[in-house]
Amino acid sequence: MPARTGAEFLQGLRTDREVWVGSDKVSDVIDHPAFTGAARALAEVYDLQHAHADDCLMPDPETGEAINVSHMIPRSKDDLLRRHKGLRRPAEYSVGLMGRTPDYMNVTYAGFAGRADEWSAFGNDEGGENLVRYQKKLAREDISLTHTIVHSTVNLAKGTFPAGFDPVQLHKVEETEHGIVVRGSRVLATLAPFADELAVYPGAPMPDADPAHALSFCVPMDAPGLKFICRDSTHVNSNRFDHPFSSRFDEQDAFVIFDDVEIPRERLFIDGNLDVYNTVMKTSWWPNIMQQTMIRAEAKLQFARGLTLRLAEAINRRDPQTEQMLGEIATYAEFARAAIVAAETEAAEVGNGLWTCKLGPLLALRSALPEWFPRVNEIIRKIGSHNLFTTPSYAALQDAELRPLIDRYIPGYEVDAEARDRLFRLAWDFTGTALGSRNEQYERFYLGSQGRNQLAANMALDRERGLALVDRFLNEPID
Ligand SMILES: Cc1cc2nc3c(=O)[nH]c(=O)nc-3n(C[C@H](O)[C@H](O)[C@H](O)COP(=O)(O)OP(=O)(O)OC[C@H]3O[C@@H](n4cnc5c(N)ncnc54)[C@H](O)[C@@H]3O)c2cc1C
Repeated sequence: MPARTGAEFLQGLRTDREVWVGSDKVSDVIDHPAFTGAARALAEVYDLQHAHADDCLMPDPETGEAINVSHMIPRSKDDLLRRHKGLRRPAEYSVGLMGRTPDYMNVTYAGFAGRADEWSAFGNDEGGENLVRYQKKLAREDISLTHTIVHSTVNLAKGTFPAGFDPVQLHKVEETEHGIVVRGSRVLATLAPFADELAVYPGAPMPDADPAHALSFCVPMDAPGLKFICRDSTHVNSNRFDHPFSSRFDEQDAFVIFDDVEIPRERLFIDGNLDVYNTVMKTSWWPNIMQQTMIRAEAKLQFARGLTLRLAEAINRRDPQTEQMLGEIATYAEFARAAIVAAETEAAEVGNGLWTCKLGPLLALRSALPEWFPRVNEIIRKIGSHNLFTTPSYAALQDAELRPLIDRYIPGYEVDAEARDRLFRLAWDFTGTALGSRNEQYERFYLGSQGRNQLAANMALDRERGLALVDRFLNEPID
């Protein structure tokens, strides 16, 4: 089957999954009030690939059928630039508010398949073959995939991954005729209600763990025993004037329970092999996936730049403090753009013929963003001030008695009341609603916390040049 349409995607969601939200056990996610907006938005993401086929689609290297370009295994710098164009479309669609559109996992699995040599190491030939076969299925069936790679947090004094055996964490219970049974929990499957399948792969090495925890696989969302507990919905059943984002972009985040789930053998990529588990993520995963995540982040910063310019214009706010804050957001957006260009310009082969962006610029950007995004929100609130709340609803604008008064008393500078209202509502939905707040949390944590990213940056980024510049002075003759 070639790249799917939105209608085909929605039809695929009609499986008998177990998703909990609030007090509801939901089997039909498409029509549930908490999910209907995002289900339809994701359908639009699927349609987008056909509307912008030149950017988003490419022929399957083996069958020739059209598949999304996010499934490409990059073999050159040109491939990465080609992929960039396709990744930019979904990023701009939600202005970065949906972090886990299906292209995220598509890029991840393309990177894994590109390093099949690493997945097949340490005697894991069958797991490696399964993974390569699964990546083709993912591309050809245009599957929407969610993932959960982080161990649940119970007692951090014991560490963030199992040391020895921990019955709370996902583990293998037994072998069956067709595969294995797994039990336990994981966090945090973003996109879960809108996924066809769930992926489990290593989040971080766990050198002291019992091999029962060393698992990687993909399983359909309707697998018996698989349960998803969603956080409270941030969706607002509204219109696109009142809630332009909350009415469609709540991609959800779910706690996952594996209540004895059978994983078929052909869907197992790691089965108790700690050596593979602890090595496969070390080389190419970060620079591969961060091309997708940073293109999304850059689109969001460019949106924030445009939004703050429009906010200032709408009330003719020209004070130096505002100009300075506008410049601050402009620098964030430009740094993000430049980091991606640098990473793509310095792309290289990282083994087995797979090409990725240069890690350094993307890791540096990722480490900075957990501070930049909350600051961006702060700036929007400062520029917006009380104007963020002088925002009559769409229904109020339709009221024949109220409308003339709104038009007279709440206009902007060279902009009418309705346009001003819509703009400030857009800004509040971006920063201040439940959706805006969830997104700030997402930016802080989605690829690991800032603390861990900064530690990684210190380890990974070049230190030789800086040390040489210092040592010249330490080693030169005193007179
Ligand atoms: C909205 C959202 C969506 C998510 N979606 C997904 C998903 O789809 N799939 C998935 O698998 N996971 C997902 N996650 C989980 C996410 O990957 C983890 O939350 C993330 O890895 C950080 O979790 P942690 O508790 O280990 O944080 P920690 O790294 O422990 O950070 C907690 C705090 O401690 C500090 N800190 C911790 N350790 C160090 C250290 N060594 N050095 C310095 N500072 C440190 C951090 O700076 C931070 O302030 C999501 C999380 C959120 C919030």
